[in-house]
Amino acid sequence: MRNDHRFWHRLSGHLILAGGALILIAVGQFQRGSSPSGAELVAATAVSTQVSVAEDGVEVTAVSPTPTLPPQGTLPVVNDSSLAPLPNPNTYQTKLPVHEFQLHEVARGETPNIIANQYGISADTLLGGNTWLSQESNQLQVGAQLVILPVDGVLHNVRAGETIESIAELYRVTPEAIINYPPNNLEFPFYRLVPESELVIPGASIGQFFFTAPKSVATNAAGEPQWTVFGTGTYIWPINGRCITQFYNGFHPGLDVGSMEGSPVYASDTGTVTYASFAAGTYYDYGNLIVINHGNGFETFYAHLSSIGVFPGQTVTQGELIGFTGNTGRSSGPHIHFEIRDRDFRTNPLDRLGGGYQNCT
Ligand SMILES: [Zn+2]
Repeated sequence: MRNDHRFWHRLSGHLILAGGALILIAVGQFQRGSSPSGAELVAATAVSTQVSVAEDGVEVTAVSPTPTLPPQGTLPVVNDSSLAPLPNPNTYQTKLPVHEFQLHEVARGETPNIIANQYGISADTLLGGNTWLSQESNQLQVGAQLVILPVDGVLHNVRAGETIESIAELYRVTPEAIINYPPNNLEFPFYRLVPESELVIPGASIGQFFFTAPKSVATNAAGEPQWTVFGTGTYIWPINGRCITQFYNGFHPGLDVGSMEGSPVYASDTGTVTYASFAAGTYYDYGNLIVINHGNGFETFYAHLSSIGVFPGQTVTQGELIGFTGNTGRSSGPHIHFEIRDRDFRTNPLDRLGGGYQNCT
């Protein structure tokens, strides 16, 4: 009997434990049943929010105006939308460009090249950042405030109706060059432009500086104004070689002299450098070009150079090193295209250059 009693006692104990466990499981099921599972929550959210991932991985999210909210108390969701207006997919917040430009005050004696070298930019970029500036480098006013762009290019003031493509075309650069310049703050996918905002157009140029050789106030015996610098009236060969690859004629108003790339180029006569830059616009075909005004009505042109060692306004003497030969502009091999102009008329240089030459045509 004692054993029987123990058996029933034990059995009842086990049953109580098992029943308790069943109740606990049931309660757990009930609680779980009352709240949506993780998967259900995701589904509920997906109904109210359409997430689309664009080609480059940028997520564009549009929230419907009446989202299906999960039951209260299960997620930290702000049900009251009165404080946080729902984003309207039809509006787009455009960012403005954020530029940080240095300013430079022109000091006495400074030339565009001297200033540009200080900031590691090209002289063209001084024009690009200050479109009001005269291209005549001797018009630089002492005390003028110049905007210094951080990269070579042009500062463009956006006008209504312009697009990235139209601006790129205007400056002959790629749209990507403008988009990829971070301070322009152009955002995928719309690249909205704000009229009156300013964009930096990297790699663009609106022209080069030139120099008008000054005449002195003094006059000669005949009462004509004298040039401050004037040439000897004699001309030396601009490079050491005498190998002529193309002669002067009606279609070719200069002399082409073949050379190794990077050979020294010398001033054919004394004068003032009036142009020293890559020749866009009028002189486009000339590549890197130097023009020297000899103050006596004559000018010499040195084209297709690989590098330029002088700046507009600089005085050079006959035989002075001014640059190196190259193959820039419309050129099919390293050579110098040399011109002697007499009051804008292009003459045959061989009429003035002494000594023999080689026919290399
Ligand atoms: Zn030529």
